[in-house]
Amino acid sequence: MSLLRAPWLAAVGFSALFALGLGLRPAASAQDVSVKSTPVSGGVHLLVGVGGNVGVLCNDYGVLVVDDQMAPTEEPLLDAIDALSKAPWRFVLNTHHHGDHTGNNASFGARAPIVAHENARTRLTDPQRRNGPLVAPGVPVITYADGLALHFGDERVRVVHYANAHTDGDSVVYFERANVVHMGDLFFQGRFPFVDLDSGGSVAGVVRAVERVLAEIDDATKVIPGHGALATKRELAAYRDVLVDCLKLVGDAKAAKKSLATLKSERTLKKYESLAWEFVGEERFLETVARELGVE
Ligand SMILES: [Zn+2]
Repeated sequence: MSLLRAPWLAAVGFSALFALGLGLRPAASAQDVSVKSTPVSGGVHLLVGVGGNVGVLCNDYGVLVVDDQMAPTEEPLLDAIDALSKAPWRFVLNTHHHGDHTGNNASFGARAPIVAHENARTRLTDPQRRNGPLVAPGVPVITYADGLALHFGDERVRVVHYANAHTDGDSVVYFERANVVHMGDLFFQGRFPFVDLDSGGSVAGVVRAVERVLAEIDDATKVIPGHGALATKRELAAYRDVLVDCLKLVGDAKAAKKSLATLKSERTLKKYESLAWEFVGEERFLETVARELGVE
């Protein structure tokens, strides 16, 4: 789900942001938002607007877009990508199904085939999906169970699925030559994560996935989080440590037979209160961990 405490937040307003993050009708127009583009490494750029962070790889082969935010950013996002490269778009990749990462699939999918994990496609095309199922060209046309590699000019892009983490359809994108990794929503930098238990997510699953990513990267790797500022391995490891500790704190409370109401009144996760943000406050994350561990 969404968000940075960035200029667009002031522009869009939290109520609109909340609605956007939930895939509800957008309340902001394209004129209300802007997209900030930052070079990361080796032809990979980070684009920040409304919604999840977008990664763009530009090289002689063409353009690869990782995630496409939400409808209000369609025009500024297209402008920002066109400013980076006039080369043909080859693929658009969805790191997972949430609307703040797939909100422009309809128009972006008209430019290049969409690639995603098979579970993400299933959720995007679910007849019960809020706002209805996506239809072509907004639907992923290339899917995978475990991952795939894109031999993208001189860059090798490795896409790896990690099961049951933020959702049940998450992918992490490794730009091997550039030494950049786009984490999707397996990484919320500097804030509590949103973990979508109702879509097959799991806090323990996020920890497992992050452990595996940490084993793949080095101290020089640039780490693009799903939300938040560009980071490094050190910050990703710190995030893992916080999640491990939150699971332990709530697990210990469960072993002491405490109820969810007691955990809330005792503020079991108070030490991490600085990680609270508009969409996931201390209590909401406590509720998520407690629900996962069966604390009632
Ligand atoms: Zn998400």
